[in-house]
Amino acid sequence: MNNIALAQTNRTFDVEAARRQFPILARMVHGKPLAYLDNGASAQRAQSVIDAVDDYERRHHANIHRGVHTLSEEATSMYESARDRIARFINARSRNEIIFLRGTTEAINLVAQSYARPILRPGDEVLITHLEHHANIATLVVAPMDAHGEVHLDAVVSLMNARTKILACAHVSNALGTILPVRRMVAAAKARGITTLIDGAQAISHMSVDVQELGCDFYAFSGHKMYGPTGVGVLYGREQLLDRMPPWQGGGEMILSVTFAKTTYNALPNKFEAGTPNISGGIGLGAAVDFLSGMDLDGARAHEDALLQHATATLNKIHGLRIVGTAPEKASLVSFVVAGVHPHDLGTILDEDGIAVRTGHHCAMPVMDFFKLPATARASFAFYNTFDEIDRLKSGIERARKMFA
Ligand code: PLP
Repeated sequence: MNNIALAQTNRTFDVEAARRQFPILARMVHGKPLAYLDNGASAQRAQSVIDAVDDYERRHHANIHRGVHTLSEEATSMYESARDRIARFINARSRNEIIFLRGTTEAINLVAQSYARPILRPGDEVLITHLEHHANIATLVVAPMDAHGEVHLDAVVSLMNARTKILACAHVSNALGTILPVRRMVAAAKARGITTLIDGAQAISHMSVDVQELGCDFYAFSGHKMYGPTGVGVLYGREQLLDRMPPWQGGGEMILSVTFAKTTYNALPNKFEAGTPNISGGIGLGAAVDFLSGMDLDGARAHEDALLQHATATLNKIHGLRIVGTAPEKASLVSFVVAGVHPHDLGTILDEDGIAVRTGHHCAMPVMDFFKLPATARASFAFYNTFDEIDRLKSGIERARKMFA
């Protein structure tokens, strides 16, 4: 099917209606309409998320959990109800399995400090893949990827052995867009008694995540990549494991009782949430989950797939452009290089046209080393992007090529 036919068959998803929910998309940049193609780094906020945070700040703010007064009770119930909705969104068995943190990075650090550090012995192995974000790197055995940026199940499984204690990998690569066969990787790990940690930062906004169906032990994601606020994210952990893990930070809220002789830790999830949390962030993330739950997600995903196909076909027509990462299963992002144009220059020139893309190593230097590249440009799409924006991206790249010819 060609791109136009694809675009035409995809009429069920109303992109313009989706765009109207995101006020920032009406912005002009350098006199041009913003084409925001940097959703992999951070997605934009829906009006309902902005409103939820605004309402909390204007009418309900107080510290949570400890207060008996009205505002504190309201703030506590808003924050804790967000936890309930997030638990439902990813089909966790219990709200106790949802730990609010700053984001994916902090979630992975919690697992490293509180789960891995106490159990790992010399000689033990942590199995990762070649396309990990830096947030996910420790003492390691690395499963390879092929020239398309695909990670094959059998390559991962062949590296599992009696020393492997943890399998830690991305669900979707932020540098290449590759979707990993995570469900089958987790099943293979589970069969061998290996604990699994999935970095869902790039997956959570592009696919339905059901942690019970995936079967993983831990799943980490960030609010700002799923149309929620920055500074808030979630570690999902199986309650049985979280229960056994020690707290990783001391402070208020993680403690039930303290004397100089003995400290009793609080129950889940508060055990891992020392100090005053990002209350407005948690509430905003709850609103983001409501927004996603209320939309036509199948339509949105079909539209994102169509954007990916359109972008792949369109960019492939540009002389000297190479797409980096061509795995058959990809989320809607395209990493690319253009002969004779450094990605940073390309990013700057595109910005003059109002087009926002990311350039750099995408915190995945091993991936860049593999492809022998210092950096790529990356256009990452959300359901509110349009075919027209991709055509503008093509024109901008061609303009940059001419400038460097
Ligand atoms: N993992 C992946 C795959 C990512 O793409 C990112 C962010 O780009 C992270 C982890 C880190 O997320 P955060 O900066 O929100 O903690």
